Amino acid sequence: MEKQQNEMKKRENRRKQQRYLQKRMGMTLALLLVITGVGVAAAVMAANSKKDKGTVETIADPAADEVKNKPEQPEETGEPEPEPQDDSALILKEADLLAMGYDYDGAIEKIKSYEGYESVSEMTAAIEDYETRKGECVPVNVSEITHVFYHTLVVDPEKAFANQENDPQAVGNNQWMTTIDEFNKITQTMYDEGYVLVDLHDIAEETVDENGVSHFKEGTIMLPPGKKAFVLSLDDLSYYHSYDGYGYASKMVLDENGRPKCEYVQDDGTTVVGDFDAVPLLDKFIEEHPDAAYKGARGTIALTGYNGILGYRTDISYQTVPDDINADKKKWLEEHPDFNLETERAQAKTVAEAMMAEGWRFASHTWGHLKVGEASMERIQADTTKWKENVEPIVGATDTIIFAHGQDLAGWPEGYQPGNEKFEYLKEQGFNYFCNVDSMQYGVQIRDNYVRQSRRNLDGFRIYYNSVGQENTLSDLFNAAEIIDPKRPPVPPLNK
Ligand SMILES: [Zn+2]
Repeated sequence: MEKQQNEMKKRENRRKQQRYLQKRMGMTLALLLVITGVGVAAAVMAANSKKDKGTVETIADPAADEVKNKPEQPEETGEPEPEPQDDSALILKEADLLAMGYDYDGAIEKIKSYEGYESVSEMTAAIEDYETRKGECVPVNVSEITHVFYHTLVVDPEKAFANQENDPQAVGNNQWMTTIDEFNKITQTMYDEGYVLVDLHDIAEETVDENGVSHFKEGTIMLPPGKKAFVLSLDDLSYYHSYDGYGYASKMVLDENGRPKCEYVQDDGTTVVGDFDAVPLLDKFIEEHPDAAYKGARGTIALTGYNGILGYRTDISYQTVPDDINADKKKWLEEHPDFNLETERAQAKTVAEAMMAEGWRFASHTWGHLKVGEASMERIQADTTKWKENVEPIVGATDTIIFAHGQDLAGWPEGYQPGNEKFEYLKEQGFNYFCNVDSMQYGVQIRDNYVRQSRRNLDGFRIYYNSVGQENTLSDLFNAAEIIDPKRPPVPPLNK
């Protein structure tokens, strides 16, 4: 009975809060209209002159149009911002967004940042609501957190998968890559099933002792009952030269609002900017579904360095041009006589910073996409140095290494033991989080001196063999038969 009353009271409070928000927003809009009214003529003239730009950056996806149609920001109208007479509605909105992402403490703190919140009934009601929702959350079993990963997504399956009979790369595209349609369906399905994206670093808690040594134990993730946590990573977000012409995006860029997007070169040679890969697609999904991510989490991006990062040719070899430089780098340099290493690095850094601001994290994938299990110690050392010289200055230091080719330095469950030289070297280099590839549902190993998680490839190979019933490795996440892109040809088996 009492619970029911509380429930009703809560609902009434929410309704009140909503009405209040609507009222406030209506007033704000009216105020904005009055202020901008004076500037309308100027705005129309500005818009007309913009049309004359004749830019190639037509934006293809509808989401970008939405962004375009958002009410103009005060600075764009050249008018001063409206006087913040009462920003309690804004505070409430921001707090609500935090609470939707399960950050109830952050939401409460946000409300309390408003001076005199105690006398605003909507605000005290909101705090009460957040406290209730927080109290309902339960801890996630960290050893049962799955980790999924993708490569660069296929924008145009007809280009990527054509010529399966004669082109080994088309076969590779079919085996290792996921299409945008498949990615979107998986994202929606997992969300519907209650999956919530958490950061790789959420699974562990790090403490540093008085000697500066890090110690790790299981992290605490609190989610509403029925929700399941998962970790996401993206491999090789470099837009390698070898991807050219196969229907992939060509680089990460920022749109006019400073948001990470992708550039895509169309058949007619024109370039469009939009949601052509996992980063902007997931950002958009989480913007529309704030409860899809835990405290604003995004994925971890595993970067090599040999072709640069994010589509920028940031590696020193593009400037020094050693004798043994790859043919594709040479060809690219010939086609780009204006190449300037510092410009590429500066642009990549701007984009990487915007991605980090959205919650994306970067990891090493080794500079040269190394097979760490087979490589000599000397090779691993030289490779790590190259990563630290060419990639780290752009994306910042990272404590995460996501091994390439799915290789690893030890099996499960034994893990990294004292005397494992390669592990000890990488540990000295600052790596504490280690990831490999494995089809098992969960692989979480948290030891005092490191965190290790296995990852599942949600690629053409797994999707196809699950969709035809020859494998059952994805059914906890989605039904592959419903996900598979009809444009994907049968995937040939792997020849080892
Ligand atoms: Zn890779």
